[in-house]
Amino acid sequence: MRLSPGQSGTTSGDRLLLLRRDRAAAPAMRALFPSIAQLRLELRFEGTAANIPVPQTHILHPAARAYFVFLCPYADCNGRFDLAAIVNAAVEDSLSRVEGLLVCGGTRVGGHASRRLCHLHLHYVITSTRDLAP
Ligand SMILES: [Zn+2]
Repeated sequence: MRLSPGQSGTTSGDRLLLLRRDRAAAPAMRALFPSIAQLRLELRFEGTAANIPVPQTHILHPAARAYFVFLCPYADCNGRFDLAAIVNAAVEDSLSRVEGLLVCGGTRVGGHASRRLCHLHLHYVITSTRDLAP
């Protein structure tokens, strides 16, 4: 079993901080996707654990940051879901609705330093509304 260096010492607080920094540095939606009036991301989680995280809905307007990385909702997991490539492809292909499944590749730390793979399933639905004004 190999652990990539630099990951094991990262706390969830650090991860949140890094995420916020990355999001702050991301371009605005209107700069990246000028034709999109609104982007709606519906995230639903599925898995075998008893405590499945609650669904999330993110609505991004043109002034919002075009940032599509979401941390795994489990506080003890170091995984993240990156929807950037999916959103990019959907906008490029002019698809108004895309859905699919991602699996968390993170590791959850148990009570006695036992590590197990998270494998939380994320079912996403991305809907885009185009700005039809000339
Ligand atoms: Zn996870």
